[in-house]
Amino acid sequence: MNIKKAFFNKGWVLVVPLACIFIGGGFGLWLLNGEEEGENFASKTVIEDFNKGKIMHKKLTAEEERVIVHKGTEAPFSGKYNDHYVKGIYTCKRCGAELYESSSKFKSGCGWPSFDEQIAGAVKWQPDADGVRTEIACAQCGAHLGHVFLGEGLTQKDVRHCVNSISMNFVPAQKQQTEKAIFASGCFWGTEYHLQKVPGVISTTVGYTGGHVDNPTYKQVCTDKTGHAEAVEVVYDPSKTTYEQLAKLFFETHDFTQLNRQGPDVGTQYRSAIFYLDQKQKQTAVQLVETLEKKGYDVKTQIEPVDKFWPAEKYHHDYYQTNGKTPYCHIYRKIF
Ligand SMILES: [Zn+2]
Repeated sequence: MNIKKAFFNKGWVLVVPLACIFIGGGFGLWLLNGEEEGENFASKTVIEDFNKGKIMHKKLTAEEERVIVHKGTEAPFSGKYNDHYVKGIYTCKRCGAELYESSSKFKSGCGWPSFDEQIAGAVKWQPDADGVRTEIACAQCGAHLGHVFLGEGLTQKDVRHCVNSISMNFVPAQKQQTEKAIFASGCFWGTEYHLQKVPGVISTTVGYTGGHVDNPTYKQVCTDKTGHAEAVEVVYDPSKTTYEQLAKLFFETHDFTQLNRQGPDVGTQYRSAIFYLDQKQKQTAVQLVETLEKKGYDVKTQIEPVDKFWPAEKYHHDYYQTNGKTPYCHIYRKIF
């Protein structure tokens, strides 16, 4: 009988001992376990590539081999990625395939790195030899990663990939070039609504700035006595949008001819203001105001130096997106 066929037909109980035998031979038979029922870890192409030497396997240490090849488990809270939260991608220790993005990693408290989403197609799910759990393995090379659990209610996706740190490497994300801008144009919900839609804007935060009280609350700011303006801090990628484009949008989405008010919202906390972070931003703001004045507008926007930015209470963030509403006094109109 063909030796591969015999291997497949014996099923999972035989996987570990047989794999041990064949790995010694330097052949990629390990990749083939579970080939029947279409539950294969590795496609035929991958196996062929492996046999042609296209997929490079890293030489494993004894402990790596215990986990990755012999489906062992590292001790809880011992792995180097258990408490590791850095932007980047976790890859297969053995073949280098990308498995998980750092954005899917969450704190489960279980003692092993936990992810609620795999990179599409990167991880194969397979009934565990124990007949109870579901094993997860690298789809490219079959390296044992750990187990996957459903229905624990730990994240919205309700999935926990419980992965041995030793089965993975980590590739940090390249540092993205970012810049900041701060705008105030009345109710910060509306200001944020428009700015967060700009391609190249990475994040927006609503908050308070330009006042004289530390850590102000919404209630305090609403009294009009703290000097703060409701504002939005924008983090953007300068290779995708510019400060000038953001500042133009700021002017085009509120009434900058109103002094200390926007529509029904009255008070200095609703003032139109640009808080510049450097001289270049200031120059851009001043030039845009001059352009608007030439167009006949009576611009009331204040150009103020950057001040401490206090993020607002959580319920103010992404207000319109969360509530499915649109702003009442931040309506886009083209000016520039
Ligand atoms: Zn792999």
